[in-house]
Amino acid sequence: MSATAGVTTDPVTGPLPRIPLDLLVGGAWESTAERFTVDDPASLTTIARVADAGEAEARAAVTAAHDAFGPWAERAPRQRAEVLRRAHELMVAEAETGALLITRENGKAWRDALGEVTYAAEFFRWFAEEAVRVRGDFRTAPGGDKTIIVDHHPIGVAYLVTPWNFPAAMATRKIAPALAAGCTCILKPAAETPLTALWIGDVLQRAGVPAGVVNILPTSDPGPLSDVILGDARVATLSFTGSTPVGKQLMASTASRALRVSMELGGNAPFLVLEGADVDQAVEIAVVAKMRNGGSACTAANRLYVHASLAEDLGHRLTAAFAELRMGPGADRATELGSMVSTREQAKVHQLLEVAESEGGRVVQAQAAPDGGAFVAPYVVHDVAHGGTLTSTEIFGPVAPIIAFDSVDEAVRMANDTTFGLISYVVSGDTGRGIQVARRMESGMVAVNKGVLSDPAAPFGGMKESGIGREGGFAGIHEFLESQYIAADL
Ligand code: NAD
Repeated sequence: MSATAGVTTDPVTGPLPRIPLDLLVGGAWESTAERFTVDDPASLTTIARVADAGEAEARAAVTAAHDAFGPWAERAPRQRAEVLRRAHELMVAEAETGALLITRENGKAWRDALGEVTYAAEFFRWFAEEAVRVRGDFRTAPGGDKTIIVDHHPIGVAYLVTPWNFPAAMATRKIAPALAAGCTCILKPAAETPLTALWIGDVLQRAGVPAGVVNILPTSDPGPLSDVILGDARVATLSFTGSTPVGKQLMASTASRALRVSMELGGNAPFLVLEGADVDQAVEIAVVAKMRNGGSACTAANRLYVHASLAEDLGHRLTAAFAELRMGPGADRATELGSMVSTREQAKVHQLLEVAESEGGRVVQAQAAPDGGAFVAPYVVHDVAHGGTLTSTEIFGPVAPIIAFDSVDEAVRMANDTTFGLISYVVSGDTGRGIQVARRMESGMVAVNKGVLSDPAAPFGGMKESGIGREGGFAGIHEFLESQYIAADL
């Protein structure tokens, strides 16, 4: 560990917990000549300078991961599980350290950051349990002429690319199944949030991950580094979480190698409030579905389709609920709505609001935003027309557009009228009715009368342009396994 940040006293302004600020390659922390800065978006100040990986470091990481693959894959599943179990225990024990790093580099509210660490740690536990439960197949062929044997093998070196909005959970959702399957990996965190990834690397090392099994490459310039890694025949799979345009770009660049890919991409979640729903309950669920992570979530409710009999009332009560949220620096324990990750994201949301207004939306600001950071106040936008900019764009901020509907068929049609298909929400006074409508949603996940559905034990992923594959659940480990069919006469 060469460079470290200091020890914190004041969580909002003080220095950070001690963590490595270098690259993790082949089990060693390596510095680089160039470093890049990490900023606290709540204060717009620099909080760390992190080693900046380039093409040479990318090649070294591939070599390290490739060399480590055979011995790691040959370890007993139970041994791999033990390492993951220790990582889970360490993350839980150090949850406040992780939460502080997340909130200081990402801006999200403390409670969201702490919740994220718990959620992230659970992937280590879940996949520790899954590592020993990979099942093959052994049966007589229908024609009786042979035995069908199906086995699963770890695919090899995995390249893992993660976004800034859940810097811990998106990393462990990939690292845990990769390691459980017997793969080695190279993690490339987003440039905005490398600190959390470096802390996770440190946790994994202390949990006993052998050298080269997990390599971490923060970089300020992901394109050239990714080209080196994805162009290397020793890399067997890409697992990407991020925006749909970048995901498509990476798929195009890997097509010539026919590389196996798993894609967790953008969302545009519809939130349906059916006729007869309890408005107070709908508002409570909407606040959670919209404001978790300050709206910067692929799962965030993006468009609220509300039955015409409830729309105006719901809009007013939602504004009142948004006005109650305590805004401030995420590291302040009392904060309920933190800042955006950067002034760039802040500007994007403000610009979207201007466009919404120009398209006829009635924009209501629920409270003033604090000065001095990348803050965006919460907004409700009434009289939004389906098909306008707000309903076709992933907002990624604390803005709730409301669109009134008259019939369920109309609501379902508008909800599905998008190229995205990650998650939908249905609020209904009758859960059975809610499930019926949920089954008509063209999305990989639907929450009925709930504002949060993510669970390490459930398959997370999208239909349409929201992704390919599933993470978590029983499916997650299969993203890192190859199946092999052997025919024999037995
Ligand atoms: P992004 O696509 O800009 O970046 C994602 C990652 O890709 C980052 O690590 C970034 O450094 C890297 N990247 C960017 N350009 C690259 C290039 N040319 N080559 C290689 N790597 C490159 O996304 P973001 O802004 O960090 O995250 C927000 C997006 O992520 C939203 O669209 C959100 O919906 C999506 N997301 C999806 C899920 C999911 O599970 N489906 C979860 C979280 C976030």
